[in-house]
Amino acid sequence: MPLVFATHNHHKLTEVKAILPQFIESLSLNDINCHEDIAETANSIEGNAQLKARYVFKNYNLPCFADDTGLFVNALNGEPGVYSARYAGGQKNAQANIQKLMQNLNHVQDRSAYFKTVIAFKTQNEEKIFTGICKGEITKTPSGKSGFGYDPIFKPQGYTETFAALDANTKNQISHRSLALQKFIDYLK
Ligand code: IMP
Repeated sequence: MPLVFATHNHHKLTEVKAILPQFIESLSLNDINCHEDIAETANSIEGNAQLKARYVFKNYNLPCFADDTGLFVNALNGEPGVYSARYAGGQKNAQANIQKLMQNLNHVQDRSAYFKTVIAFKTQNEEKIFTGICKGEITKTPSGKSGFGYDPIFKPQGYTETFAALDANTKNQISHRSLALQKFIDYLK
């Protein structure tokens, strides 16, 4: 039976389809004619991922997985965390989010941070979550042109460049999202 991946985000869909093995057939929300923007109203990324997976299962009666990601900065008590997409406001502007984070870290010594992705999986009989974490630090200046979101200011541990300066393959091997996805795939196997 195919699994629904609860996202409208094209970038994510392509990334996830490239990682999923062929035996897992996945459908997007568009494929099942779900055009609603499922509100992410929980106060944790676990809660938001579960909320999306449960919504699709309840309304479409299809097994579903959903993800949610946050950037957690240690010196800011985990900010922006669950609010990563709308840190600088509801318009979800990556440039503005980066600027706000840089300002809040001005003169702060400890720049350690991590990305965390949670995948929630919901079927008739079960509900599970899978977590992936990528540790690193927030750089003092943005660099690199690829990726999205906070990529230009996040330098993963063990690397000298930001996610935005690394090639997509390298990012895909070490990223929070691919680590969570790998755990999910291992479970399905
Ligand atoms: P989402 O739950 O995957 O939509 O992620 C929420 C927000 O976290 C995004 O809007 C981005 O700002 C940020 N984010 C998630 N994943 C990444 C990433 O791989 N690189 C940089 N920023 C990310």
